[in-house]
Amino acid sequence: AKREGRNCVHFFDPRDPQSIDETETIAATLRGALQNNLANMVYQPIVNLSTGKIEAYEALMRMKMFDGTPISPSRFIPIAEDTGMILPLGLWAIRRACIDLLLSDRTPMVSVNISRVQLKSPSFARSVSDLLAETGIDGRRLALEITEGLDLDGQADALRCLRELSELGIRIWLDDFGTGFAGLSWLRMFPFDTVKIDKSFLHDASSASGRKMLSDIVDLVHHRGARILIEGVEDASQLELARELGAHQVQGYHTGRPTPADLAPVMSGVAPGV
Ligand code: C2E
Ligand code: CA
Ligand code: CA
Ligand code: CA
Repeated sequence: AKREGRNCVHFFDPRDPQSIDETETIAATLRGALQNNLANMVYQPIVNLSTGKIEAYEALMRMKMFDGTPISPSRFIPIAEDTGMILPLGLWAIRRACIDLLLSDRTPMVSVNISRVQLKSPSFARSVSDLLAETGIDGRRLALEITEGLDLDGQADALRCLRELSELGIRIWLDDFGTGFAGLSWLRMFPFDTVKIDKSFLHDASSASGRKMLSDIVDLVHHRGARILIEGVEDASQLELARELGAHQVQGYHTGRPTPADLAPVMSGVAPGV
């Protein structure tokens, strides 16, 4: 891409030697992450709009390189998936979230993101089941978020895995709804407890057509019988909109940023609704 001259926009090019180098560094970081305490979890509150209470926290992974530089999940998660490191890291994330938030009774629930690579792994459901048995944590306090972008090949394995997880009491949430083509088929195939509407729809809802789009998506999910979580709530007017549209839960910088477990707020500051 560099050859094309300085008037061109330069896209991220996986063949670019500099990106190959960086990808290698991140892969090495991921391989050593757990032994060297480079991985960390932060937690963002999820607020129930009718009670005004924090109902759950979403667990989000953070990673720093050996020199202390933070790497964003949108950069390291795909590399963790390609290298298979997502399997140990992903299990560690669930364990960490359970220990940080669920060993005390202070927190009702925690939701943890999982990757399609984990869902296709034959031992994943068993590992989660062992983890619950070992910590004595009730599976109903754990939610696992899968993203709708999950490709539909290998879907049979993924569905089997989701069913096994459900049998442990674990709630399955569909994340980033509306961003891909697979969302509707997923909704048809599996009874998701909660659907998280991708934040881009809320952020586009300042125009009339954007608002209509968001409200259509909310109605569609409503008809499927799943609970609706609107994410990316950044100000009071977006919170009001989520309420008007009938969302059950919200999440976003306005109601709480991701923080380490010991700093996680207990109260939401959101008034109960009707
Ligand atoms: P996601 O699951 O959709 O997570 C929500 C992202 O939105 C998080 O970014 C969060 O920090 C950010 N966010 C929260 N509130 C707001 C808001 O009000 N406005 C805006 N603009 N953003 C908000 P983060 O932590 O950078 O994570 C990015 C993505 O990386 C996540 O998207 C998820 O797909 C993935 N990820 C993060 N942690 C894990 C993990 O432990 N395992 C897996 N498999 N994926 C993870
Ligand atoms: Ca998520
Ligand atoms: Ca999301
Ligand atoms: Ca996402």
